[in-house]
Amino acid sequence: MPYISGNTMIQQAWKNGYSIGAFSAHNAETIRAILLAAQQEQAPIMIQVGQKVISVMGLQPMKAMIDAFMHDITVPVCIHLDHSRNFKQTMQAVQAGFQSVMFDGSHLSFDENVRITRAVADVAHALDIGVEGEIGKIGGTEDDISVDEKDALITSCDEALQFSELTTVDYLAVSIGTAHGLYKQEPQLALDRLREIREVVKKPIVLHGGSGVPDDQIREAIARGVAKINVDTELRQAFTQGVSEVLNRDPEEFVLAVSLGHGRDMMQAKVAEKIRLFGSQGKAAQF
Ligand SMILES: [Zn+2]
Repeated sequence: MPYISGNTMIQQAWKNGYSIGAFSAHNAETIRAILLAAQQEQAPIMIQVGQKVISVMGLQPMKAMIDAFMHDITVPVCIHLDHSRNFKQTMQAVQAGFQSVMFDGSHLSFDENVRITRAVADVAHALDIGVEGEIGKIGGTEDDISVDEKDALITSCDEALQFSELTTVDYLAVSIGTAHGLYKQEPQLALDRLREIREVVKKPIVLHGGSGVPDDQIREAIARGVAKINVDTELRQAFTQGVSEVLNRDPEEFVLAVSLGHGRDMMQAKVAEKIRLFGSQGKAAQF
């Protein structure tokens, strides 16, 4: 199966009442874990390349590494650029062959956010690449972006609608009470606001900070229009735990294939669990 456009993938999920899992990759083993879980569950998936991994590994090498692991994968896959704050970088991802890009202008004024997101969308849409924009600030810390939790305001319906129409984004990240990273207390999603936003915006909604949100709230969010859920923290925890288990058992286990391999297996199991929760297992056949 070749890569498919993020727009095609998310629309299909949205119309059929399930969500695509958008899983962050950090190295060869985590790429392999995500792709093997998708293959095992026969699920369409997004594999996300974020700002931290780009700073360490580079954008094009990450794309090339994902390409290398696609040889035995038959389910639909979409490579997504996560939280870009830089027009130039979004264009580099377009040129590198990503099928989906996010411009995050949530730190900018409304007008600047609209202006740059629209410029990204004009180019990406000409090439059938999906575009995600963000309106409202999502709390927590991710990719060197820190937002004070009290500043993490819930997105209003008016701003979501205006932003959606002016930018022509395909899917929209909104702030409805999730945060990046680890939650200090159980999150309470603003599910009523989510339903209101869906009714006016009429586009798929993206949920950031999917790690640690209780399963029942995830299911409810999907029922109210969320069709892309980003998961990173829980996957990194699973991978790290797998590596730690091997080293704690034998501190002199220097065969990296053993420790990294166990990390990969643990992360693959976690990705598969999320795919089933999001309802995307078995949906590869829809494409
Ligand atoms: Zn995010």
